[in-house]
Amino acid sequence: MDNRHRFETRAIHVGQAPDPATGATIVPVYQTVTFTQDEVGHHKGYEYSRTGNPTRAALEECLASLEGGRFGFAYGSGMAAIHGAMQLVSAGDHVVVADDLYGGTFRLFSEVLPRFGVHFDYVDATQPEAIDAAVTPETRMLWIETPTNPLLRLVDLSACAEIANRNGAKLVVDNTFATPYLQNPLEFGAHVVVHSTTKYLGGHSDVIGGAVIVDDEELAQTLQFTRNATGGIPGPWDAWLTLRGTKTLALRMREHEANARRVVEFLVGRPEVARVHYPGIPNHPGHELAQRQMRGFGGMLALDLEGGEPAARAFCAATQLFSLGESLGGVESLVGYPWSMSHGAFPAEEKRRKGITEGTVRLSVGIEHPDDLCTDLERALEAAVVTG
Ligand SMILES: *Cc1c(COP(=O)(O)O)cnc(C)c1O
Repeated sequence: MDNRHRFETRAIHVGQAPDPATGATIVPVYQTVTFTQDEVGHHKGYEYSRTGNPTRAALEECLASLEGGRFGFAYGSGMAAIHGAMQLVSAGDHVVVADDLYGGTFRLFSEVLPRFGVHFDYVDATQPEAIDAAVTPETRMLWIETPTNPLLRLVDLSACAEIANRNGAKLVVDNTFATPYLQNPLEFGAHVVVHSTTKYLGGHSDVIGGAVIVDDEELAQTLQFTRNATGGIPGPWDAWLTLRGTKTLALRMREHEANARRVVEFLVGRPEVARVHYPGIPNHPGHELAQRQMRGFGGMLALDLEGGEPAARAFCAATQLFSLGESLGGVESLVGYPWSMSHGAFPAEEKRRKGITEGTVRLSVGIEHPDDLCTDLERALEAAVVTG
């Protein structure tokens, strides 16, 4: 099996040849700490499961192939993967970060890593000039997400890679929202891709995990060395569940997107809705860029309700199929209230500057029947008007 095969085929076969010991068609859960050696130093490639485990290796090979890189590293959570990627910088280094950032990443960058002498500056990365202006002689890394959370803003991958290369820095892209099915940042010159596999890759909201993918061998060696030294690995069961989810990523993403389009069609023009944020809509500010660097627009969207906070709260309480909760990317639909949930830690003026209002609601559109989803949203909009 190799990288000439198409995405759907690689998702099911790369790293997943029949088990050499038994012929098991599905990669077994190698629930073992250690591997017996024939004589001192003679083993079959595995010694101790922190360093390497065959179930985890299958997942890593598959994820690397789907991102178009040669090396994959699985971690116990998306945050552990992000912390793993930060092992590529050292005390005294400077990192330019897109300010539209996952809240947990912001917490790591603002409250933990500065204690180790790493310096961060935040910029509006939708404006590449702003990134250029923030670069210093100490800049070693650019960190971006695209599309961003929750308003699905687009950041130009090629422009960021050019700035990184010109300044001897590495471009890291958190590709959790787009997934490798819709976007491969390495193709556009990014050096490192990170994922929370908890979301679309796992896809069933039943396992926390993360991954880092690179194509450069030197970066891979640093990642392998530091992950083994720090220990943030997933267990074999979690690796196995994530790999099982990954097999159906393509099918699920097609359904997520088809349903998101139906939901957008339903919402646009409704009197209760001031604005719909979805990169598939031609007047979305990132629409053209999305067409250039993505193969689709995904299953995430946000809407601003006319009635502000009371309307948004009533809407979130009234949905039945869309469960109110953190997370995204599972087969089940979720609704979230960024103002106090995912972005609750940001000050009000910062949220307003990002375009998030008290009336903004985020939807992770699942793969239920779209008619049922629209009926659920209609009831929620009616509740939002009564209250709003
Ligand atoms: C959820 C998420 C993370 C963190 O992942 P965990 O698996 O929850 O640790 C990082 N980045 C993005 C974009 C996310 O959505």
